[in-house]
Amino acid sequence: MILVFVETGATGATEVSLECATFARALADRTDGPVHAVVVGGERPDVLVGELGRYGVAAVHHVTGDAFSAYGGGAWATAVGTVREAIDADYVLAPGTPRGMEVLAHLGARLDVPMAANVVAVTDSGANETGPLVVTRQVLGGAVLEEMNMSERPVLLTVAGHAVEARHAADPAPPAALRELTAEVADIDLVARVTATEPVEADRSGALTSSPVVVGAGRGAGGPDGFDGVVELAELLDAALGVSRVVTSLGWRPHHEQIGQTGSRISPELYIPCGISGAIQHWAGCASSKTILAINTDENAPMVTKATYAVIGDMAEVVPAINAEIRRRRS
Ligand SMILES: Cc1cc2nc3c(=O)[nH]c(=O)nc-3n(C[C@H](O)[C@H](O)[C@H](O)COP(=O)(O)OP(=O)(O)OC[C@H]3O[C@@H](n4cnc5c(N)ncnc54)[C@H](O)[C@@H]3O)c2cc1C
Repeated sequence: MILVFVETGATGATEVSLECATFARALADRTDGPVHAVVVGGERPDVLVGELGRYGVAAVHHVTGDAFSAYGGGAWATAVGTVREAIDADYVLAPGTPRGMEVLAHLGARLDVPMAANVVAVTDSGANETGPLVVTRQVLGGAVLEEMNMSERPVLLTVAGHAVEARHAADPAPPAALRELTAEVADIDLVARVTATEPVEADRSGALTSSPVVVGAGRGAGGPDGFDGVVELAELLDAALGVSRVVTSLGWRPHHEQIGQTGSRISPELYIPCGISGAIQHWAGCASSKTILAINTDENAPMVTKATYAVIGDMAEVVPAINAEIRRRRS
C-alpha cells in the first residue's frame, strides 16, 4: 500500500503532487500495492477526488479538524501518520517541496525510519515487499545523484520536482473513494504553525519550484530598483522570478524568492540567471535546470562557464533588449 501526501492550491492538486502521484503509480506497478492519497485541512475535496482518480489514486483520505485549519509541520505529520497507520501503508511519498520535506521529516523522526529526499527514480524495488528498496536521489541540488538503500518499513521519500511528468493512468480508474476523518494532535505539535500569510500574488514567486521557466537576478541588478527588466521578462515568458542570496540579504527582494542551498531548489526547462555569479551555494539550487541562459558581464563567471548559452553584457541593457524583441515579435 502506497500513501501520497497531496498538497493543494487554488485549482486543485499542485503540479508536483500530481507528479508524485504518477511516481507512486510506477512504484505501485513494481510493489503491487494500490495508491491512496492524504489531503490535510481545507474544504471537502470533491473535485480533487475525481482529479486524483484519473492519476490512479484509489482512495483520498481527507483529514480535518481545528488543528489542521493552518499549516503546521508537526500537526500535518500527525494527520499523515494517522492515515498511514490506518491503512498500514508501507510507502509514504510526498512532493519534494518545503512542506513535503517537513511533514515527512517529522514522520520519519516519530517512526524512527530514514527518509530519502529528492528521489528521482526507483532503481530496485527488492525481491519482495520486505526487501530493500533502492532509490536514486538528487543531492547537492541535483549536481550529484546517489543511490540509497531503504531496508526499513515504512519507506518515506519525497519526489524531486520534475523527476517525472504528471500523467493520467493508462486505464482510468473509477473516481477515488473519499474518506473523511480527523486525528488527535498533541499540544506540542501546535506550537509552530502558520498563523498569517502575506499575499505573494504580485511577485510570481509561488511558482518558483514548479514553473517551467525561471528568470533569476543577482547583485548585477545593482540595487532594489534594478529588477524592472527581469520582472517584465518573467511576465513576458510567464515565468517565475528567483534571486540570489545577496539580493535577499541586502533586502532588495523577499527571501521566498531565493534560489539555492538555503533557498528553493528549481529544475525548470529554462533558467535565465542575470547578474548571478553562480556561487556553489546558488548552483546547488539550480543545477538540475535543463537549459541555462546566463546573462553576465564576466565571461569567466562560474554561471557563464556552466551555462548552456550565455550573453556577455550588462543586464540593464541586454534584458530590456530581449523584452523589446519579444514584444516586437508578438505584435
Ligand atoms: C552557508 C551559505 C549558504 C548560502 N546559500 C545561498 C543560497 O541559497 N543562494 C545563493 O544565491 N547564495 C547563497 N549563498 C551566497 C553565495 O555564496 C554567494 O555569495 C551569492 O550567491 C552571490 O550572489 P550573486 O551571484 O548575486 O552576487 P555576486 O557573487 O557578487 O555576483 C554578481 C555577478 O553579477 C555580474 N554582474 C555585475 N554587474 C552586472 C551587470 N550590470 N550585468 C550583468 N552581470 C553583472 C558579475 O560579473 C557577477 O558574476 C550562501 C552562502 C553561504 C556561506
